[in-house]
Amino acid sequence: MKKLSFCIALFVSIQLTPAQTNPASIEVESVKKHLYTLASDAMEGRRAGTPGIERAAQYIESEFERIGLSKYNNLPTYRQNFTARNLKMFNVIGVLEGKSKKDEYVVISAHYDHLGVKKEGEGDMIYNGADDDASGTTAVLALAEYFTALGTNERTLIFVAFTGEEMGLLGSRHFGKEVNAAQFIAGINIEMIGKDSSYGSKTAWLTGFDRSDFGTIIQKNLEGTGYQLFPDPYPTQRLFFRSDNASLAQLGIPSHTFSTVPIDVDKHYHQVSDEVKTLDMEIITETIRAIALGTQTIINGTDTPSRVVLKEGEGRRK
Ligand SMILES: [Zn+2]
Repeated sequence: MKKLSFCIALFVSIQLTPAQTNPASIEVESVKKHLYTLASDAMEGRRAGTPGIERAAQYIESEFERIGLSKYNNLPTYRQNFTARNLKMFNVIGVLEGKSKKDEYVVISAHYDHLGVKKEGEGDMIYNGADDDASGTTAVLALAEYFTALGTNERTLIFVAFTGEEMGLLGSRHFGKEVNAAQFIAGINIEMIGKDSSYGSKTAWLTGFDRSDFGTIIQKNLEGTGYQLFPDPYPTQRLFFRSDNASLAQLGIPSHTFSTVPIDVDKHYHQVSDEVKTLDMEIITETIRAIALGTQTIINGTDTPSRVVLKEGEGRRK
């Protein structure tokens, strides 16, 4: 009888554990689906102002809808529309409300735009932007699904696919204009996670590592997982200011970019050859899982990273 009730208890506890609480629920198959869709030729390089980016936005919206995210800031749809460079642009934003700290926000973002189609030449004309940054957008979708199923976010999570990054961080700058920075606890931006970093397998690096203690919080949470986070190995490239994290960091928000790209030797960066076949699905998947584990204490409200303080004149893109 005792044995039987133990078995029943075990059975019940297994049943009560949500199926998707382990980062293992972030699966290669769904990563592959997002990535192949976003980097397909049908998206025509996802340049802001083109029909291709419209299709990419529709895919992201349909995923946000399926996952069950809410709209941001009383917007009627997932789109945050604005005009820049005489083009109609839109960030795509979905929200997962926090359990107890609803007014404390954590942004999880990537840019979904890229360079479009080559104007002249022969052969492959489409800048598919598989690593840059369909891989990061894939991470945003996978993390939205993961954290929704997990349900332990005491803070409100704002999932953003930024537009116009390649034209000068236009989408994130627009987003940053309308926020109350004090409510924003952290920014988790993701760029190019499809290849092994120069630190080796199961590693990623973080831009602006020494500008807040965000990175050391992530390192602490990754201890024992077999995955490691390092500081950006290319400090002279000023990468901290060259992706969308910068638009929030300029407001003092500890907002950093995760990446694995070996950018100094990467032949495909901003080339039409940045295609899905050059990426490793396992690397993307394990990096997304590491981001999920590494950021968990920020998301559940137990860690609050220190603010970013910029020096005079810092922060504008070259
Ligand atoms: Zn990029």
